[in-house]
Amino acid sequence: MEKRQVKFYAKDSNAVAIHALPGHFATSNSHINYYIDITSLKTRVKEAKEVAKVLAGRFTSHITVDTIVCMDGTDIIGAFLSEEMERRNIMTTINQHKTVYVVSPEIDTNNQMIFRDNIKPAIAGKHVLLLLATTTTGATIRRSLECVQYYGGISVGVASVFSTIKQIEGFPIEGVFDEDDIPGYTAYQPGECPYCRNGHKLEAMVNGFGYSKL
Ligand SMILES: [Zn+2]
Repeated sequence: MEKRQVKFYAKDSNAVAIHALPGHFATSNSHINYYIDITSLKTRVKEAKEVAKVLAGRFTSHITVDTIVCMDGTDIIGAFLSEEMERRNIMTTINQHKTVYVVSPEIDTNNQMIFRDNIKPAIAGKHVLLLLATTTTGATIRRSLECVQYYGGISVGVASVFSTIKQIEGFPIEGVFDEDDIPGYTAYQPGECPYCRNGHKLEAMVNGFGYSKL
């Protein structure tokens, strides 16, 4: 299925591109007609750095960020984002180490997001920026915001490399790509998917980490 993929460049950086694969895919909450692949942006250092630059430019210097919580394997982007934000004086860190924490939650056997005791100090009382790879329904963002709140963190912003929604629970979602960058991109409620109705088989289960062919 990889052969069908189409490359799209970011509006504000020709060093950043995503691959989109047309077809019929299921996320945990929706069916979509494009699988958005940002693997290279997450795993190639040079590209991760470029993404971080674009994302950092989305936040004003008024925001305080102590911790970046990385979902969907975005840790490398998160590390560069912290560096880029520090460089732009976006951070006003309140911790004694004068630097930003970059962490990701563990998913336990009950599929709950957890932070172990050794990571909790990076969340409790800290200003937290959430970083995700792709967002279609926002379910992962809601879950992550709840998790941060549960551990005593103060969510201050949400960044998602690709997002089809503009805001969630009062937070604008800052991103590099949105559905306008992928002409024809549509997400459907599983019960209302025209591909299912026409008997098209699902090709893969997808999430922010990637895809598993069915
Ligand atoms: Zn479907």
